[in-house]
Amino acid sequence: MSSITNDKIRQLVNKYEHNVIEIRRDIHMHPELSFQEKRTSELVASKLEELGIEVQSGIGKTGVIGILKGSRPGKTLALRADMDALPLDEDNDLPFKSVNAGVMHACGHDCHTANLLGVAMILSEIKNELSGTIKFIFQPAEENGGGGREMVKEGALIKPDVDAIFGLHVKEMPLGTIEVGYGNIMAYSDRFILRVKGKQAHTSKPQQGVDSIVISANIITALQSIVSRQIDPLETATFSVGQINGGTAPNIVPDLVEMVGMIRCMSKDTREIIKTNIEKIAKSVAEGMSGECEFIFKEGYPAVFNNNEMADYVKELAIERCQDIKDDLDLQLPPEFDLKELVRITDKPTLGAEDFGFYSHEVPACFFYVGTGNPAPIHSPKFMVDERMFRVSLNLLSSVAIKFLN
Ligand SMILES: [Zn+2]
Ligand SMILES: [Zn+2]
Repeated sequence: MSSITNDKIRQLVNKYEHNVIEIRRDIHMHPELSFQEKRTSELVASKLEELGIEVQSGIGKTGVIGILKGSRPGKTLALRADMDALPLDEDNDLPFKSVNAGVMHACGHDCHTANLLGVAMILSEIKNELSGTIKFIFQPAEENGGGGREMVKEGALIKPDVDAIFGLHVKEMPLGTIEVGYGNIMAYSDRFILRVKGKQAHTSKPQQGVDSIVISANIITALQSIVSRQIDPLETATFSVGQINGGTAPNIVPDLVEMVGMIRCMSKDTREIIKTNIEKIAKSVAEGMSGECEFIFKEGYPAVFNNNEMADYVKELAIERCQDIKDDLDLQLPPEFDLKELVRITDKPTLGAEDFGFYSHEVPACFFYVGTGNPAPIHSPKFMVDERMFRVSLNLLSSVAIKFLN
């Protein structure tokens, strides 16, 4: 029933592309770390206000929510972008290179924020032709701290209750490509700490002490059997002890070792099995060797779960748009290239994590990827995007919103 044609959307993308690039460069030049996105969130709030969108600031510390109402009642859709940067020195030669030493937008969150503002511009202009409500969620601290968790806790998905949520991430894929997956596309990711306590002694009289380093070595070895012997071999899981600290001198039997590690897996049950077994094994090995072990579990991000119906929205729209994408980007493709191949279906989830997971466990969700057209990987000091990708991301996210609401 939508009277908004694809050509109309392309026209609006064309109209606002320049503004979006300008905003993106401004944010790129002034990156801010997790929960410190003060300038960025002020910029977001002011741009939304300029559009006449109702703004809520200070959600989840530095988050911003914009609420746009269509002309008729209907469903509520949330669109999410993240705003934070990484502690990294930028190694790109750009007129808009980061001016904040040691901070860089190396995960493309500058693009996500600018893109969502662009979608807000596009949808504001056609709000009279829209049903329902759109919530633009600009969250802090995706990289460090779980801003998504805070946004959900502070009611980002209620009043009005959100029926579905979409978010996108840039990815080092060719320009014009889109990737979408079904089910769990990213992992549960949690941290654990093991604190092994022994008893100090001189190394000439080890029998008088309890060696926490020897206990820790045994614990690490014993823990390797969890994935190989406690988990269904068809399940995916991994865990690593990534940090180990202990001891003060070569001639002292140390009384304390602290180990920190990560658990990554694809299901809640597997997470529970790994968690329970780490604790059980670590404690019993320590006790069997006359020491003690404290286990601390720090729940991280839940898996990103893509709802089938929502993923279909993205996939089908992306396939419909392939010819436009080729034209809009002037892609030079070999004649035998099947345009549908611009849309990739994730066949394998990754064990990476994203705090979009918090939203995806509350309401039907889809998180998808747009190619940066640049081989530099995310989180690298040379990360960069070809800004023509906004023609794809603005069109797709706006189209998904219109299709869902109308
Ligand atoms: Zn990142
Ligand atoms: Zn990211």
